[in-house]
Amino acid sequence: MVDLDTLFSLCKRRGFVYPSSEIYGGFGGFWDYGPLGVEMKRNIRELWWRSMVQERDDIVGLDAAIVMNPKVWEASGHVQGFVDRLVECKNCKQRFREEDVESMVCPNCGGQLSEARLFNTMFKTFVGPVEGDAAVAFLRPETAQGIFVDFKNVLNTSRKKLPFGIAQIGKAFRNEITPGKFIFRLREFEQMELEFFVRPGTDDEWFRYWVEQRKNWHLRYGISPENLRIYEVPSEERAHYSKATADLMFNFPFGWGELEGIADRTDFDLLRHSQVSGEDLTYFDEESNSRFIPYVIEPSVGVERPFLAFLLNAYHEEPDKEGTRVVLKLHPRLAPYKVAILPLSRKENLTLKAREIWAQLRPNFMTTYDDSQSIGRRYRRQDEIGTPWCVTVDFGTLEDQAVTIRDRDSMTQERVPISELLGNLQQRLASS
Ligand code: ATP
Repeated sequence: MVDLDTLFSLCKRRGFVYPSSEIYGGFGGFWDYGPLGVEMKRNIRELWWRSMVQERDDIVGLDAAIVMNPKVWEASGHVQGFVDRLVECKNCKQRFREEDVESMVCPNCGGQLSEARLFNTMFKTFVGPVEGDAAVAFLRPETAQGIFVDFKNVLNTSRKKLPFGIAQIGKAFRNEITPGKFIFRLREFEQMELEFFVRPGTDDEWFRYWVEQRKNWHLRYGISPENLRIYEVPSEERAHYSKATADLMFNFPFGWGELEGIADRTDFDLLRHSQVSGEDLTYFDEESNSRFIPYVIEPSVGVERPFLAFLLNAYHEEPDKEGTRVVLKLHPRLAPYKVAILPLSRKENLTLKAREIWAQLRPNFMTTYDDSQSIGRRYRRQDEIGTPWCVTVDFGTLEDQAVTIRDRDSMTQERVPISELLGNLQQRLASS
């Protein structure tokens, strides 16, 4: 697999990812997404939403506020329990997560490390004009709590019956002690979370169901089976709310790392919010004519970790006539651009025709246009950013009203009439 430095340099050079505030030296754990990265992130969100909400009859969406009443985080246990164990080097003063150091020796300078102390990784801020203790609020470290706090609202307005789920995508913030490994461990990231509410007693079954569903989603969009495995998290490593957790692990260049976590959160959150807020968050079950607090299964994944994993898995270097072809074999639905329109040369009659075709395709897909340098170079440039199809407009086009579609992976070419181009490309995308 490609190493992180090579991938990072491609990402930066081609406009997938830039260090945040780079002109000021960057800012640890924060990154920006360029013109290609923003498209790929949108695609990941869209594919998640599609499989979780659009294609199902038992899940609805939500978009809750990032900053919530601080009581939420007291009730959820985050003020008390959302902590990492932090050790500090007595010599160079650098801080590490205890989990990340192998012995009590500083990985940076070899100095002696302090005893571990607890460090809460929630970001604090102040709401309103007074910066006192009473005004402290938190940037959410997970999107899930918004779902629990709105459980009753959604239940009342959507009239869903158990089992049903609420899905949400949004930013989350964690003051990670040691951000890094490119975009693997971030301080600001985006989560895609589903809370799937079920009858107590059916939770084990639903837990297995969601582990399987989510594994298949990653495989469907390009993760190779040998790079994905399931880690059943033992109780001592599980979050405070979890009865069972399975992590989907990806084989990153630095070792196996968590891509997504699926947890059985039981009735922990709704029960806590009922107790602390005084609101009745029970569900009335017509089938059994009884009231209870549902159990919940949560598949939780960031946008950025699959983003990184999809890129790593897609990166290929292949020998070719000119040396090496770098190609991102991204699933077409993930690729930033689906189609590139390339006139064979900059002759005006060709570029005019090519621009006309480009304008016809633009409303249907994300597309790009390139008329600089040799056609071979331009194919390579599109290969490197994962564009699955290039449409070439040549001198023959002006005669026969046909263009050539070149496929990124097989490099085969097909001549198609312009009148059939859109349908042909749509067909290719639909069958990918
Ligand atoms: P880790 O053990 O790697 O810190 P976690 O177990 O704390 O992760 P969860 O709380 O289960 O992570 O979060 C669910 C998902 O959110 C993760 O699987 C990952 O995709 C994403 N995620 C969590 N923390 C980060 C982070 N700091 N940067 C990027 N993505 C993250």
